[in-house]
Amino acid sequence: MQLLIYNTLKRKKEVFEALNAPHVGMYVCGPTVYGDAHLGHARSAVTFDLVFRHLQHMGYKVRYVRNITDVGHLENDADEGEDKIGKKARLEQLEPMEVVKYFTDRYEQNMDALNCKHPSIEPTASGHIIDQIEMVKTIFENGYAYESEGSVYFDVEKYNKDYKYGKLSGRKVEELLENTRELAGQDEKKNSFDFALWKKADERHIMRWPSPWSDGFPGWHMECSAMGKKYLGETFDIHGGGMDLLFPHHESEIAQSNAAQGKDAVRYWMHNNMITVNGQKMGKSLNNFITLEEFFTGNHESLQQAYSPMTIRFFLLQAHYRSTLDFSNEALQAAEKGMTKLFTAYSTIDKLSASATSSTDVNKYRDLCYQAINDDFNSPILISHLFDLVKIINQVNDKKTSLTAEDISFVKQIFNDFLIDVLGMKSEISTDNSQLVDYLMNTILEIRQNAKANKDWATADKIRDDLIKLNIQIKDTKDGADWSFK
Ligand SMILES: [Zn+2]
Repeated sequence: MQLLIYNTLKRKKEVFEALNAPHVGMYVCGPTVYGDAHLGHARSAVTFDLVFRHLQHMGYKVRYVRNITDVGHLENDADEGEDKIGKKARLEQLEPMEVVKYFTDRYEQNMDALNCKHPSIEPTASGHIIDQIEMVKTIFENGYAYESEGSVYFDVEKYNKDYKYGKLSGRKVEELLENTRELAGQDEKKNSFDFALWKKADERHIMRWPSPWSDGFPGWHMECSAMGKKYLGETFDIHGGGMDLLFPHHESEIAQSNAAQGKDAVRYWMHNNMITVNGQKMGKSLNNFITLEEFFTGNHESLQQAYSPMTIRFFLLQAHYRSTLDFSNEALQAAEKGMTKLFTAYSTIDKLSASATSSTDVNKYRDLCYQAINDDFNSPILISHLFDLVKIINQVNDKKTSLTAEDISFVKQIFNDFLIDVLGMKSEISTDNSQLVDYLMNTILEIRQNAKANKDWATADKIRDDLIKLNIQIKDTKDGADWSFK
């Protein structure tokens, strides 16, 4: 079966062919670690975790590289403003690397909670300064960069004469030129859309390294080109990221790779869509974001309750990664319900009694699930097939239909393959004893309550007396019975 991937560069679905099968190289833009991860970060991480898991499930050996941006990401895309991490460090009176460590750890904890597999390599920008300087040198030698006041800028106009600039985002240099030429004044750049490959650090800037041009730091786009090449080679299979990174970040990456090596680095560009709140992008810049921590604790004014990590993951997977996804409490509550239904059915499979013959055909479901996931990772369609199986499982459980032992284990295998392995869902039913005691006590008190309602005093008393022997005391109140350890 063929895997189709929507390639943003070609604006269509293409059959995926690995460059060096069974190996696949995948690079995904990771977080800039100066604040807590929000739902938008989770969407990108879960999307590419799904891609990673499915490629592995298909038997590919995937090298998944996701970077940590710990230097060079300035406050605005026009290469101006403070370094985001430097600013946070200044405000909190910390070393920049303390900020980096703190938020990297929290990011990893969030991703673990969401059951995202760890990437194969998580390189940091600050750990690859030499690689970045070397690549800037090459671009400079090839004539696509110029030095200005100690900084090095990419010459977009020059590049556009030899290569087509804007092929990913569809922006045209001619139009950009018309709009910006009059604005050019005392700017260091020839054109406002030129971007920094290396920036000279001013005296306030803490994070700085020596280079042939100045003491400074690399431009933000440089790290992904340099680290992608270092770990995945000059040409690799998949590059992913959020749609908001398409321009200027990914467009600049394409220009840098071509300027340095004369050819594209990436074969399939994949972009996940945004999370929206009332139709607006959820993000730090609009200040309408809810962090994952706030979702997990319910501690935010927009949240009616806490939502578990797996509820968040299931909510994200219930939408196709290229559609926008609007946040609402109702949608999250529906996801929570749906997920519980799936896991209840999953645990019911083992208790089903097998029949000599099957009255329902379950054979088609494996193919249907593969068709869905192979069609550009269509997780919502895949999930709808699993829900069809939930119906069958419940019917067998209610003796309204029958399955052979072989078919029952086939259904179990589908759930293992797709719900657990590919979608990366896991049951949140706790094996923690104190929670288990709570559940058991509620069940026992309910039985006792029913006995009392039926005037079965002997049973009600026996439950009370047996519990006293276990040091558990029942108290009857007007709201029902309560219990405590003596
Ligand atoms: Zn990147």
